[in-house]
Amino acid sequence: MLERLDEQSPDALLALIKMHAADPRSDKIDLGVGVYRTDEGGTPVFEAIKRAEQQLVDEQSSKSYLGPEGDMGFVNALMPYIFGEDATMGGRIAGMQTPGGTGAVRLAAALAQKAGMTKLHMGTPSWPNHAQILGDISLEMAPFDHANPDGTANVEAVLAAIRGAGSNDGILLHGCCHNPTGVDYSDEDWAAIGDAIAETGIFPIIDTAYHGLGHGLEEDVAGLRSVLAKVPEAFIAYSCDKNFGMYRDRVGAFYILANGQETLDTAFSNANALARASWSMPPDHGAAAVRLILRDSDLTKVWKDELEQMRNRMRQVRDRLAEAGTQGSVDMVPLGIQNGLFSVLPVSKEQVAQLREDHGIYMAGSGRINIAGLTMGNIDKFIGAIAEVTGS
Ligand code: PMP
Repeated sequence: MLERLDEQSPDALLALIKMHAADPRSDKIDLGVGVYRTDEGGTPVFEAIKRAEQQLVDEQSSKSYLGPEGDMGFVNALMPYIFGEDATMGGRIAGMQTPGGTGAVRLAAALAQKAGMTKLHMGTPSWPNHAQILGDISLEMAPFDHANPDGTANVEAVLAAIRGAGSNDGILLHGCCHNPTGVDYSDEDWAAIGDAIAETGIFPIIDTAYHGLGHGLEEDVAGLRSVLAKVPEAFIAYSCDKNFGMYRDRVGAFYILANGQETLDTAFSNANALARASWSMPPDHGAAAVRLILRDSDLTKVWKDELEQMRNRMRQVRDRLAEAGTQGSVDMVPLGIQNGLFSVLPVSKEQVAQLREDHGIYMAGSGRINIAGLTMGNIDKFIGAIAEVTGS
């Protein structure tokens, strides 16, 4: 039976990790893997997480089953950060824990499909797993261009996609720190997008995987909140894997906004059933640690300070790149106004290969770079290499 399976291509980034590991050059630069790094190049466990984990070790009395919805203390503690003071929007929001943001996106797509969605509009390029998840459940994806060639958001494209959508369509939006482009919508853009969604009735799914890594915890969800204030229904997929540094512990949440209690309860029961049939229940440890942090004001402060340091460091790197202006054929100025962990450089596959071979600089074939892979110690080498490889 198994011989009927077709070989699947390996994850391109994993191949890049291997190549980088095998490179003996001491000044090599890894801009491939999507994790935050300090200016020393490490991805340490947050201090707030260390303390919360210690508390868990000392005080957790049982590891008995929870349920498909996971740790509801965690789910509820996050809500004011995402949705604001009226964290349930008058009782219209319910959520559950998921295995990472990936689990939340998967659940959102599967539940939308179960509710009758036939096509999901999505700006491209996007996080590659979006298309993979949609392909896996056979939910049609309708792509539109997310960004303009000058590195700004293509608002006309998203508005045209919304206005041209059919009655069973949805739209997937990145809440902030767009992966891979770093190109986010402005407040005005979000206002226009929210109005268009409300007018047409297209179903919004907002994926927020980098909350707090752009401009701040409040600022990064302002767009999401402005849309939710205008629409009757929405799904929100949320990841804590970047903003709490929990990557391998898989911490995420899925929220449903509905128009009435009965609809909300029914939708939630369906999400529960899908979760039960997929992973039964999410892993507890990471979410329990996040719950402890968010319920303790001292730990919350430690976490917020750590998040701010990450944000400031990435801003410093972006500012330095923007200051460098045009190097070779690459205008780096837009990187200064883009947000989060990633941006895409307008470089060819050949130039990506040359950066790797001649300079030990590793990035995805698409030109996506992890901003946090640059440090004050290696950024000048990077800028010089871009000038050399892309200059004619
Ligand atoms: N959505 C987007 C846009 C992402 O970039 C990612 C992961 N980097 C996720 C969701 C999933 O995050 P997680 O690692 O929590 O599954």
